[in-house]
Amino acid sequence: MLKKIQDCVIIGSGPAGYSAAIYASRADLHPILFVGFQPGGQLTTTTSIDNYLGFPAGISGIDFMENCKKQAERFNTLIIDQSVTNVFLSNQKGGIHRIFFEKEKECLKSRGVIIATGSSPKFLGIDREKELIGLGVSFCATCDGFFHKGKEVAVIGGGDTALEEANYLSKICKKVYLIVRKNYLRASKILQSHISKRNNVNVLFCSNITKIIGNDFLEGIKIFNHENKTITTLLISGLFIAIGHIPNTEIFKNKLDLDDRGYVIVKKGSTMTNKPGVFAAGDVQDPNYRQAITSAGTGCMAALDLERYLYHEKME
Ligand code: NDP
Repeated sequence: MLKKIQDCVIIGSGPAGYSAAIYASRADLHPILFVGFQPGGQLTTTTSIDNYLGFPAGISGIDFMENCKKQAERFNTLIIDQSVTNVFLSNQKGGIHRIFFEKEKECLKSRGVIIATGSSPKFLGIDREKELIGLGVSFCATCDGFFHKGKEVAVIGGGDTALEEANYLSKICKKVYLIVRKNYLRASKILQSHISKRNNVNVLFCSNITKIIGNDFLEGIKIFNHENKTITTLLISGLFIAIGHIPNTEIFKNKLDLDDRGYVIVKKGSTMTNKPGVFAAGDVQDPNYRQAITSAGTGCMAALDLERYLYHEKME
C-alpha cells in the first residue's frame, strides 16, 4: 500500500536503479522504482557481460537485469512499469519532491529521490538515419543482428560498444565493416585483440559516413576517407551506430545542476545533487567509467546517502 508521502522514489531500472532499490528496501525505506522507457536499461542490449564480478562464465544482459529485478522484488521494492514525465524538486531541506508519471495528473510525493535514468545512444546526425531505424539502421546488434544473417553490415565507432557489436555481428554476418573516424581505436585492448582475430571484420580508419543510401530500407552508405580523400560506397543491409551516449536528463533541465554535456553534477565522493534529498547514480552522473559495476556501486551509495539524509532530517 502506498504511503501519503514516500521516503524513496527511484527513477530508472538499470544496475544503478536496482542496486539502490535493494539497499533502500533493506533499510526499510519502502522504495518505489519507476522502470522508465527502457526496462532494464542499456544492458538489456548487451550480448554477454563478462566483466561483472561474480559471473565467471559471463551472463547475458537480459538475464542479468532480470536477476536484478527479482532481487529487488525479493525485498519488496514496488516496481512501477511506467516512465516519469516530470518532477518538481524542492529546494528546502526536508522538503517534499513531486514525481509525475504517465498522465501529468498523477503524482507521488517523496522526501527522497534517486535519479538513475542512465543514458541513450547518440545519433550521427545525417539524413535518413532516423527514418530508417528498424529498416536497416540499428543501435543494437543483439536485437537486430539476426536480420542480417549471412549479409554485409557496418558498425560505426571505435569504442568498446562498437567493437562488441562488430564482434557479435562477425559471428552471424558475411562481412562487417568497422568505420572509425580516427586512425586508432579507443576500445580496450582485449576487445581490440578479439576483433583482430575475426577475419571477416574490415576496419576502415580515418573514415566518416557521409550518406545513407536507400528509400524504404537501408541499401548502403557512402564513406569519406579524410586521409587519402576518397569516397567509397558500401552496399550493406545493416548499419549499427555505436558512437557514445547522452545522459537521460531532459526532465531535470533547469531543475538540477547539470554539466555542459547534460550529466547530473554530484558532490565529489557522494551521490548528492544540489537539491536536498535528491541523489543521482549510474551513467546519468558518470561520463567517465560507465560500467555496470560502477553503476551498481553508485546505486548502493545513493541509497546509503538517502538513508543518512532521512535519518538526520528526523533527528533535527
Ligand atoms: P565511447 O565514447 O567510448 O566511444 C565512442 C566512439 O564513437 C569513439 O570511437 C568515437 O570516436 C566515436 N564517435 C563519436 N562520435 C562520432 C561520430 N559523430 N561519428 C563517428 N564516430 C564517432 O562510447 P562507447 O559507447 O563505446 O563506450 C562508453 C563507455 O562504456 C566506455 O567507458 C566503455 O569503456 C564502456 N563500455 C564497456 C564495455 C565493456 O567493458 N565490455 C562495453 C561497452 C561499453 P573518437 O575516439 O574519435 O572520439
